[in-house]
Amino acid sequence: MKLKGPSYGHLSPNAKCSRCRGKAVITLPSHHANFCVDCFLEFFRKAVKRAMKKFPIKPHTPIMVAVSGGKDSLALWDVLTELGYVTKGIHIDLGIPGFSEASREASEQFAKSRGLGLSVYELKDLLGFSLPEVRKLKSSKICSVCGTLKRQFLNRLALQEGFSVIATGHNLDDEASRLLGNILRHKEAYLAKTYPFLPAGGGLVARMKPLFRLESAEIRIYCKVRDIAYFGDKCPFAQGATSHIFFEALEFIESKMPGTKRDFLFGYLDGKKPPQPEETPTGRCSICGAISYQDICSICRIKEELAEKGNSQ
Ligand code: SF4
Ligand SMILES: [Zn+2]
Ligand SMILES: [Zn+2]
Repeated sequence: MKLKGPSYGHLSPNAKCSRCRGKAVITLPSHHANFCVDCFLEFFRKAVKRAMKKFPIKPHTPIMVAVSGGKDSLALWDVLTELGYVTKGIHIDLGIPGFSEASREASEQFAKSRGLGLSVYELKDLLGFSLPEVRKLKSSKICSVCGTLKRQFLNRLALQEGFSVIATGHNLDDEASRLLGNILRHKEAYLAKTYPFLPAGGGLVARMKPLFRLESAEIRIYCKVRDIAYFGDKCPFAQGATSHIFFEALEFIESKMPGTKRDFLFGYLDGKKPPQPEETPTGRCSICGAISYQDICSICRIKEELAEKGNSQ
């Protein structure tokens, strides 16, 4: 099935830029607009500025950008820097043979090319296990464990490095697919947290998604225009994740009715305010001392489980 969508360079030679009336080279069907390169960049930055305006953070707050080496996180880092934000990248090397080396390399190369600071940590050093070792020992869904580990470690490392906010590269497609999945499965608790900014609370620093107004394909075009060499392979452990089913369903609807995906997400968010901060736990993990709701924090629980399984093998 061939789906229509945003593209770069597939326009009739006479197509005009919707903004400046110059020659258009980019078409964005969901906006019913064509752009020249400069006006596309203006459109892209405007979408990020509009998102940032919605987030209750002070203009000079340093931002820690979670960088995977993929198109979204590198585009995010690039655009935030272009807009004048003070940023530092953070990359966690998961230790997946082939995939992690290339992801790390793309992150490091980008940081070097732009003269930006990047902290790199290895999951093996942080946890004592690489992700393939976690996968071998833990039977539950690897993406859910990996998500918890990344969220918790990113938070701890951000606090350790003195940051109060983390930005992630989630885009409009990610958010709309997740929303569709949560609505279809009546996941009320997740729906209550569907907002591109989550305030600090529950022992976590604030988290924001400045690319939530931009589609995956628009980000791909941005990377091309801005000469961003990202690593485009999918994680080899992603197979079986259900999120791509919702993504593909939305892509199909979008190809028949351009703009539906945006209307679906923005219509849902319209008038909503950031969720209330979660109460910060008063207790601490009895093993590592981190702030925790329970006697043992989620990382130490995973560590213990892995150590037990490792010993019994
Ligand atoms: S796809 Fe790979 S990197 Fe992403 S959550 Fe799953 S295991 Fe982790
Ligand atoms: Zn133009
Ligand atoms: Zn702990």
